[in-house]
Amino acid sequence: MTDIQNEKFNKISFHFREILIALNLDLTDKNLADTHNRVAKLFLEMFQGLEEGSEPLVTTFPNVEKYSSMVFVKDIPFYSMCAHHFVPFYGKAHIGYIPKDRILGISKLARILEFYAKRPQVQERLTEQCVDYLWTSLQPLGAIAVIEAHHLCMEMRGVKKPGSLTVTSAIRGCFEDKAVREEFLDLLDRPSW
Ligand SMILES: [Zn+2]
Repeated sequence: MTDIQNEKFNKISFHFREILIALNLDLTDKNLADTHNRVAKLFLEMFQGLEEGSEPLVTTFPNVEKYSSMVFVKDIPFYSMCAHHFVPFYGKAHIGYIPKDRILGISKLARILEFYAKRPQVQERLTEQCVDYLWTSLQPLGAIAVIEAHHLCMEMRGVKKPGSLTVTSAIRGCFEDKAVREEFLDLLDRPSW
């Protein structure tokens, strides 16, 4: 761990212990005695996307074949944490683009998603950030992201709607065109899960 990570760990651990105390929990209970440290470790891992320098290095390649159709990966699983309630939301993302001069290693689409998911998030922003990253790093003809997610803050409390899916989408460039968008949705063919 770096000094900064160490400092973060100590702060989270200390304050989480205070939360356990505020809940009147018996910290001599073996199951709780070290929970504050486990949570601190978990938070550092789950929020890795906040670490400076952890941005995905996206290598792009010249589009020598002049490929100009859709490239996309569907059903990319992800886990993130709701910024409003600090409980997980999770689901699948479908991310694609239509190349112009450069193309991208396919696995990078999942890396981009993972990077932005590993921080306290809202689904709308996660969707936009994935598309923005593609749009600026690749300068494609178009980019699209559709995210479907379960929010535990909705399923476990409040409106209590287990099984409900929240769907968000973000588009850039030629995906503004209805026909292009429809082609993407056809290829997607309503993911089953
Ligand atoms: Zn929430």
